[in-house]
Amino acid sequence: VGVTVHELYHSWYQNVLATNEALYAWMDEGFTSFASSETMHYLFESTGNPHTGSMRGYQRLVDSGKEEPMATHADHYHTNFAYGRAAYSKGAVYLNQIRYIIGEEAFRSGMLRYHDEWKLKHPTDLDFIRLMEKESGMILDWFHEYFVHTTKTIDYGIASVEASESLTGTTQIELERMGLMPMPLDIRIEYTDGSKEEFYIPMRIMRGEKPAEHDLKRTILEDWPWVEPSYSFTIPMPMENIRSISIDPTERLADVNTTNNVLMYTPEQ
Ligand SMILES: [Zn+2]
Repeated sequence: VGVTVHELYHSWYQNVLATNEALYAWMDEGFTSFASSETMHYLFESTGNPHTGSMRGYQRLVDSGKEEPMATHADHYHTNFAYGRAAYSKGAVYLNQIRYIIGEEAFRSGMLRYHDEWKLKHPTDLDFIRLMEKESGMILDWFHEYFVHTTKTIDYGIASVEASESLTGTTQIELERMGLMPMPLDIRIEYTDGSKEEFYIPMRIMRGEKPAEHDLKRTILEDWPWVEPSYSFTIPMPMENIRSISIDPTERLADVNTTNNVLMYTPEQ
């Protein structure tokens, strides 16, 4: 069924949109893979993340050390492996990153608008990103540059959590950027009473913020200047009330090392 769904989606990606397969293989195979993963997830009422497979494929590409920029002409990749993973896996992950950056609503309407405005017109990668910028009201060229034209990766982690010295009853959280590619961050904190809240760290280069995607209480923090390797913020809650802190609770961010993304406190600690 998976292959049938995948091949059906090629009716839209590449056939109707008619993108250049040699220059933008990822806009065909990647977008097709993304759509078929969503559909398979829906058809089989699966739980969990529909794009785990694409993320795993991208991760294997990164780990192999054979990654080449996704902007490489399809005939000029050094290995077939690098072509395949870039086109199918990283291309699907690309869409999930746009969705993470601009939010679910603008992403959904943007994808519909992409079909509507660009069918039979041979859109380029820049036409697509420009449309998503218009739809979201955010600047996205930085993302496109990093993700399509370089092999730089995303890796954020929780560096430290401490009771704030300056203000009792508050907690200072320090985050670290180890990867060379910056991204805005969604942080979710769960408290010992079971309540949850979110903190959102935008980046200045986006010139905008995504709207809240769920009903949780959400605080928009100051921009993380992308040149800085670390970032701290203080939450008005004592440390002992925290049960867990997670970076990217919706598991969409293409973080290549997720082992440092979640901090859990057990009652004994
Ligand atoms: Zn295909």
